[in-house]
Amino acid sequence: MRALCKTEEKPGACYCENIPVPEIKENEVLVKVHATAICGTDMHIYDWTAYAQERLKLPMVFGHEFAGEIVSLGSQVSGYAIGDRVAGETHIPCNHCIQCRTGNQHICENMKIIGVQAPGAFAEYIPVHKDCLWKLDDSMDYETGALLEPMGVGVHGVLSGEIGGKTAVILGCGPIGLCAVGAAKASGASLVIATDVIDRKLEEAKKLGADYAVNTGKQDLKALVMELTGGCGVDVVVDYTGNGRAIQGGFEALKKGGRFTFVGLANGPLSLDINNAVIYKEAKVNGVTGRLMYQTWYDCEALIKSGRFDVKKIIGGVFDLKDYEEAFAALKGGAPGKMLLIP
Ligand SMILES: [Zn+2]
Ligand SMILES: [Zn+2]
Repeated sequence: MRALCKTEEKPGACYCENIPVPEIKENEVLVKVHATAICGTDMHIYDWTAYAQERLKLPMVFGHEFAGEIVSLGSQVSGYAIGDRVAGETHIPCNHCIQCRTGNQHICENMKIIGVQAPGAFAEYIPVHKDCLWKLDDSMDYETGALLEPMGVGVHGVLSGEIGGKTAVILGCGPIGLCAVGAAKASGASLVIATDVIDRKLEEAKKLGADYAVNTGKQDLKALVMELTGGCGVDVVVDYTGNGRAIQGGFEALKKGGRFTFVGLANGPLSLDINNAVIYKEAKVNGVTGRLMYQTWYDCEALIKSGRFDVKKIIGGVFDLKDYEEAFAALKGGAPGKMLLIP
């Protein structure tokens, strides 16, 4: 089969045409991949950063955001049939640790990740554990299906506290931040202010319904927020940047007693004036990773089916798998939106 494989411990990837189709275990299905999307994690793998070096054993087919159809079933898989259209949860839970047994499979103690420790989706076929399958609604095409996983990260952040009727700032307008903007609007936020430092990304945020799009490199976020909220600040700030300056600015825009949710990964330890940012403000601070299994998936489906959130607006480009270099180059050049690869 054709696949994008990481074969060498250096930047780049290998487009191979003769990789054996993966064998499935008894608790897995084989999925023919119809659409797959590039994630920030894939950029780390492509660039062979410290994150990738610590986690990957080569050779490895990478990629984990995908949708396709089931073409064969392991002997212990029930509830699915050949021909079923599915997307995949990236996190493979162990199902026996304390987190898995208390409704928190998404933060399993023994988590494996598709495309990092298990064969990935930048390929014609991928083996998928039965616990990681999500049946696609008939109304959803494969491109939409491949976007559900990253969309879920944005949705999980926004819906990890109250949002309906609330004012919100979304920090960062990468694909996940864009999904957060769409989710906040579709969930009834009364005011959504999106921020970034790249104007092209802010244009996309407006298309997803942001009431204001602020370039924090040029504009004063706090001044605008105070003007719009009668000097109080916003109810909710969700961070998708992991950037210290953006986060400090977000806390300054937050109302007393408001919620600050961290989603974007930082490159290392950050410093924060917690007296003023959190304590005196009685801010409610939480962290969010991945997607709830499977509450967030139901939330994503409901948001799309409501017609109020067109997730395909986050697509920045669609490329044949063999043209992967173009897709990665576009992302590195700061192109907005998600890049899809079609195997
Ligand atoms: Zn991802
Ligand atoms: Zn577990």
